Amino acid sequence: MYDIIIIGAGTAGISAYKEAIKHTQNVLIINKGPWDTTCARVGCMPSKVLISTANRMHDIQNAQEVALNVKSAIDTSQVMEHVQTLRNRFTRATLRDVESWNVEHKISGEAKFINPNTIEVNEKQYRAKSFIIAVGSTPSYDQNWKNEIGDKLITSDEIFELNTLPKSIAAIGSGVIAIELAQAMHRLGVETTIFARSKKVGVLSSSTLQNIAQDELSKELNIKFEVLPSQIKNTESGVEIHFTENNQSKSIHVDYILNATGRNTYLPSLALENIDPAFSDLKKLPIDLKSKQLSSLPIFIIGDAFTRTPLQHEAANEGREVISSCLNFPKVSNLNTLTPLGIVFSNPEMAIVGQSYANLTKSNIEFITGFVSYEKQGRALVLGKNKGAIEVYVDKNSRKLLGAELFVESAEHMAHLLSWMIGEELTIDDILKKPFYHPTLEEGLRTALKHARRQLR
Ligand SMILES: Cc1cc2nc3c(=O)[nH]c(=O)nc-3n(C[C@H](O)[C@H](O)[C@H](O)COP(=O)(O)OP(=O)(O)OC[C@H]3O[C@@H](n4cnc5c(N)ncnc54)[C@H](O)[C@@H]3O)c2cc1C
Repeated sequence: MYDIIIIGAGTAGISAYKEAIKHTQNVLIINKGPWDTTCARVGCMPSKVLISTANRMHDIQNAQEVALNVKSAIDTSQVMEHVQTLRNRFTRATLRDVESWNVEHKISGEAKFINPNTIEVNEKQYRAKSFIIAVGSTPSYDQNWKNEIGDKLITSDEIFELNTLPKSIAAIGSGVIAIELAQAMHRLGVETTIFARSKKVGVLSSSTLQNIAQDELSKELNIKFEVLPSQIKNTESGVEIHFTENNQSKSIHVDYILNATGRNTYLPSLALENIDPAFSDLKKLPIDLKSKQLSSLPIFIIGDAFTRTPLQHEAANEGREVISSCLNFPKVSNLNTLTPLGIVFSNPEMAIVGQSYANLTKSNIEFITGFVSYEKQGRALVLGKNKGAIEVYVDKNSRKLLGAELFVESAEHMAHLLSWMIGEELTIDDILKKPFYHPTLEEGLRTALKHARRQLR
């Protein structure tokens, strides 16, 4: 009997394995499919390569923003190869790491539960004192559309495998993955149409910032809010999409449909009903959100398999943190949680740090909002990136910074600063005593913080 069996070797499972072997060698990790993680192969990393290239091209083509008259002839034929080369470098690094592990510790195959302490893989059974389920998720898509247009319907699993950039694409969805990939494609010269079920882009929950983001991104991108295809079919001139917009029937032709409408957990592959018939209803799984424990069992579900925050650093943190509960069962500890930090690599970038506007309004906490627009912010003007805005949320009583939402250039860096300050439970007065170098984008942040402080006095 193993001390721990880990199911799934993505970011969460690998992190759990590395922590586990510091304490016991009696470990087994099982993975279905490639061992190079969603993040490195088809997630965080290739998407960021594509986005960086796209943003550089956009900057070259928009150099007039900083008074340069550029006549550019840009050849994008190498872009997909570049994405794949760099992606392969990242996946190789992960695979090298996995190859260095004890061969006795790993099995390739799909695991499913036989009973609470037995799983089956490749028709062999394995028992353990505790289990970590880190099976991640897979892109969702409409099976009828897939039947209709076959490999012309792609998801984030396939887009990075394209040999060349398509001429045109229709993205379905306006969430994080859809907006990141669609904007990158558009900036790389791919004629891009975005169909969004609702009037929302990315993650921002503040209506002020959401409106600014919708207006700003709509200047660049063809986003059809509250419009979805009514019919799609394969034709000789590409995929024909029918839809209704402003009460008019319309159609377009595209090379591919990129389905980016969310991801489904891989939990159904585990036959959890063999542990307890009640677990067949995955929506009602009794999982403790703090410890990630399933019911009162020595079974823990981490990473994207069951989460409200499908993020790489959260998955890695949960993998590390859960090991002590496995080894000390039945003493189960709450995982040390991180200050919430979510970034969307749109341009301008979006970020939510600490508590979102929506969560704060739902809570009983009395807070005030500090606001700054970046349209006239000094450094943003210098960079030719004077778009967007930031909101900071401050507790009216304790004066502590509770959260922020950002839609600005370099939001990724300011969001980190803010999350570290929120984690340290700093008050607005503590933060405003910190140095703010001149001239920087962070000075805009100071304007928002001062706006908040004025309302507190
Ligand atoms: C396009 C895209 C862009 C992203 N960008 C970012 C970003 O910029 N920043 C960020 O923080 N996050 C980003 N993410 C999210 C991030 O990739 C995930 O949060 C992270 O990969 C989750 O890791 P995981 O270990 O939970 O799952 P995974 O890495 O998916 O690992 C799960 C593993 O379990 C295996 N498995 C499934 N079922 C079984 C079974 N029954 N038996 C055995 N093995 C099984 C799977 O095959 C897989 O190998 C992005 C995701 C996508 C798709």
